[in-house]
Amino acid sequence: MARFRAEDQAVRGGPRRNAGDEEARPMEIISRGRWGAAPPRARTLTTWPKRTEFVVHYSEGPTTQTPKSIQSFHMTDPPEGRGWDDIGYNFLVGRDGEVYEGRGWLVVGAHAKDHNVSGIGVCFIGDEGDATDEAKTSIRDMYDLACQKADRTLHLRGHGQLASTTCPGAQLLAWVEAGAPRPGAPLPGRVLKLTQPPMHGEDVVRVQHAVGVEPDSRYGPETAAAVKAFQSAHGLTADGIVGRKTWAAIMHAPS
Ligand SMILES: [Zn+2]
Repeated sequence: MARFRAEDQAVRGGPRRNAGDEEARPMEIISRGRWGAAPPRARTLTTWPKRTEFVVHYSEGPTTQTPKSIQSFHMTDPPEGRGWDDIGYNFLVGRDGEVYEGRGWLVVGAHAKDHNVSGIGVCFIGDEGDATDEAKTSIRDMYDLACQKADRTLHLRGHGQLASTTCPGAQLLAWVEAGAPRPGAPLPGRVLKLTQPPMHGEDVVRVQHAVGVEPDSRYGPETAAAVKAFQSAHGLTADGIVGRKTWAAIMHAPS
């Protein structure tokens, strides 16, 4: 499997397979080269400032579909296919949690009308009810990584929230609307602590509400200081790190 380039692996506080792990798990993405992608007919690039959302899809097909078969369908001329320049999605996730590079981070996709410049489209390969915890974990990992790369919190959307479509299926849509909670995670979010650059995300907003900091979704020094005060007031070790016990106290605090 191809790994992210060094710059990606160096991201601190990045996606983890288990919230309890202190070491960041290197995200692994199967590159286009590895899955044998055909070259795109054309590519249009966008920029991180224009990326504002992360859009979850499903392929609405059997889980035996592959990035290759989906690309072939997307690039074949109608009526047999879509006639697109490349596979429509920016990334794909298999039932086993494998992540595949589609068009990649900054190439404009063909996955959601009027949201292809703003949105990073990630497709679960499968149909309603097929998404496993492994697949959801990988989608969540990709969302967290996208927010880190964008250096801010991206809107998390199911395709059906943007257009009249059943995509990504009722179950995945409900999961996305719930904030894409990490399956089986003992914490409602990651372990949060001061990092450079600061950690970003909806879980940070949740903490900021609980500790009385104006929410900006960035776990910066002001938030860490407020967390220490919160910890002191709740008989916890005032280390500014939101781990299991602090998360539990925050979940019981009025928001
Ligand atoms: Zn879709």
